[in-house]
Amino acid sequence: MMAKKRLALHWTILIGLALGVGVGLAINLMWDESTWASTGIDNPQAWIAGTSLESENTAPSFGAHAALFLRHLNAFVGDLFLRLLRFIAVPIVLFSLIAGVASLNDTRALGRMGTKTLGLYLSTTAIAITVGIVLANLVSPGANFNEETKQYLIGKYSTDAGAKIVTGHANAKSGWDAALDIIPKNPFTALAETQMIQIVFAALLIGIGLSMIPKKESDPIVRFFQGMTDAVIKVVHIVLLIAPIAVFALIVEQIADLGLDVLAALAKYSITVVLGLAIMIFAVYPLILRSLGGVPFAAFLRAISPAQLLAFSSSSSAATLPVTMDCCENRLGVKEEVSSFVLPLGATINMDGTALYQGVAAIFIAQMFAVDLSIMQQITIVLTTTVASIGTAAVPSAGIVMLVIVLESVGLPVEGIALILGVDRILDMCRTSCNVTGDCMVAAVIGSTEGGLHPVVEPALDEHPPT
Ligand code: ASP
Repeated sequence: MMAKKRLALHWTILIGLALGVGVGLAINLMWDESTWASTGIDNPQAWIAGTSLESENTAPSFGAHAALFLRHLNAFVGDLFLRLLRFIAVPIVLFSLIAGVASLNDTRALGRMGTKTLGLYLSTTAIAITVGIVLANLVSPGANFNEETKQYLIGKYSTDAGAKIVTGHANAKSGWDAALDIIPKNPFTALAETQMIQIVFAALLIGIGLSMIPKKESDPIVRFFQGMTDAVIKVVHIVLLIAPIAVFALIVEQIADLGLDVLAALAKYSITVVLGLAIMIFAVYPLILRSLGGVPFAAFLRAISPAQLLAFSSSSSAATLPVTMDCCENRLGVKEEVSSFVLPLGATINMDGTALYQGVAAIFIAQMFAVDLSIMQQITIVLTTTVASIGTAAVPSAGIVMLVIVLESVGLPVEGIALILGVDRILDMCRTSCNVTGDCMVAAVIGSTEGGLHPVVEPALDEHPPT
């Protein structure tokens, strides 16, 4: 019997995403406070959080219970998928990096790869901030902003902003401490706490150590790590089977809760950020890919689109990492020793989208408070944003927390983040896609300059005919 051709993975995810946007928008527009009231719920926030008191709600109807159940079910599906991805992230990095480095047998090549990777990460981040700052100066999204809307936004989000500011201060670390933190005190703690840079460091050292002992002794261990890597990649493929449904669930939640009025009020600012991200993805990256790696952009985009779509839906480079690695290795042809080094490092320190966003946000807040930034102050923003984006954790909303440090570096009012908090999640989705695309771009360039991309030996999930 002829095998039926299965719809490619990126298409199924895209369909899940489009349906999620549609359903989320419908809920957003049709379900409001009055709908809740008609089901007997006077305090929806408390009802959803499960903290409502008897007195707050008049007898919740069946509709209220059904809506709550569907909401929990939806959140469960999304969280289940993210948890499965997080579950795979540490083993995939550990096993594949040890196996990759041990079989590389060349510490000089490793040094070269490291230097090129860091060079590309730093320069693309600097380009991203520059694009953001230039755009924000050209568009001036904060100029002539309606004063009433400004006060409304500050009033609505000041409590949430306060919490972010506290976290931002708690996260601030000196450069010395950050550098020292690369080395785990205990590799097992690093694994248990998902400290990605520390895991990369430990895996590199073990891989190097393995390559220095007699082959007779290292071979079985390297084969073990290789076998474990192959097994974990299979698990990624299994997890990806639920990706379209999970993406639907994740997007519905975000779009249903999106404050459309706030989005409209901050349209100019949001468009500036999205425009900047588009310039990075569709102009800067293709240019670097072609000139340094000779990789055609269309093929690159097709290979990594599942990772981009997942990054968009989850707002987390860390959760997307297993899929990013799978896409780069199995759909793009980046060798394992390259991708397992470049990508976890990138997910942790290379955040072009976040840097661009922080640059635009800082200028926007300055314009909102009528602060005229000098060239020196703008250069300070470029420098602190580079550091802040490196220190940003690869999880949702981390970028706005680190923005506190950028604002403080030039004396801008940190309370200003209340102004942009309402659209942070949607911009987080966009900037995380850019972050992941940037990591994949560097992996492709390093891969093609370090021995070339290999022909795609193991077809990606979607190319498997159904059995
Ligand atoms: N969510 C982003 C990421 O995981 C970080 C940020 O908040 O900018 O890449």
